[in-house]
Amino acid sequence: MKNIAILGATGSIGQNSLAVIKSLPQRFRVTYLTANKNIDLLQKQIAEFKPKGVVVLDSCNASVLKKLLNGTVEVLAGEEGLEEIVRRDDVDIVISSLVGFAGLKPTIEAIKHRKTIALANKETLVVAGELITALLKEYDVSLIPIDSEHSAILQCLAGEDRSHVAKLILTASGGPFLTTPKESFASLSVEHALAHPNWKMGNKITIDSATLMNKGLEVIEAHWLFGLPPEKIDVVIHPQSIIHSMVEFIDGSVKAQLGLPDMKIPIQYALTYPDRLPMNGRRVNFPKLQSMTFFEPDKEKFRCLQLAFDALALGGTAPAVLNAANEVAVGAFLEKKISFEKIPLFIEKALSQHTVRHAPELAHIIETDKLTRNFVGALL
Ligand code: MG
Repeated sequence: MKNIAILGATGSIGQNSLAVIKSLPQRFRVTYLTANKNIDLLQKQIAEFKPKGVVVLDSCNASVLKKLLNGTVEVLAGEEGLEEIVRRDDVDIVISSLVGFAGLKPTIEAIKHRKTIALANKETLVVAGELITALLKEYDVSLIPIDSEHSAILQCLAGEDRSHVAKLILTASGGPFLTTPKESFASLSVEHALAHPNWKMGNKITIDSATLMNKGLEVIEAHWLFGLPPEKIDVVIHPQSIIHSMVEFIDGSVKAQLGLPDMKIPIQYALTYPDRLPMNGRRVNFPKLQSMTFFEPDKEKFRCLQLAFDALALGGTAPAVLNAANEVAVGAFLEKKISFEKIPLFIEKALSQHTVRHAPELAHIIETDKLTRNFVGALL
């Protein structure tokens, strides 16, 4: 029996993780759940999964929940609460599914306490890939990706010698604006951008999918997870989202992982890796699918993808700048303060004013994140 803490239980990945855990009661038990603000949903999850404790990031909501639960479940608050629970002995696996930079510190704490990491929070590897990779080695900890593309690559690599890999091919749906002309980008609404064609996800990642920044962040994530240089990581648009990613080998063979877009599949694979267990659900119906299409991403139209490749090439603290500027710009777009086309402009400005620091320590990354947020905030 493995004990699991879910950081970000009320989000899309958190809810799907709980569905997977519920289907495998003989293997997994939830010991801790965390939420940002949504204490209504958290309360329902507490009633169903009976964790030992919960963390609510927002301290006011934590106090409200504490009163409601009246001592039946331990309630902790804030970032300290997150860092506290991942240290505990009754946690074997930490599902890191917080949104954005907030996932970094608790994930580091979990690695230092030798917990297996199931990672959905790609920003952790984007901003601190070098540091995280070194810590995983130092503490001999496994980090298994939940992101569907990286889960696909991990599945393609099973049984393969890493030196036989020629390149990774990340697939991208292209998001809701794949065929929208760039001239219309200034007038796109938040509602348009949130209407993703294939995946139902949280707001931040859905906007990242619309700008293709999500794919850019995934390129950086893949670089750190699989140790390949940027020139050996390709992105191809595949609007049907059936192939979740591919690996090309040195003999020209290509392995792909296919499936219907359902996050429960990569979540279960991450939790049971390297084992594979049965799962009920719909299956790919090839005759019904009929065709799959592929094309080059337009990096001029979707500037964010190019900016992510640029930040990875710059290295050091540059991806942390990319991420922080993106988080602020996406937040401003969601609040209808800036138009969709402005998102990459703020990121580009933030990157161009930054002096890269190589081999950054955690303190440098945190400082870079803070300075970038202030810089973009002032521009807004
Ligand atoms: Mg993904």
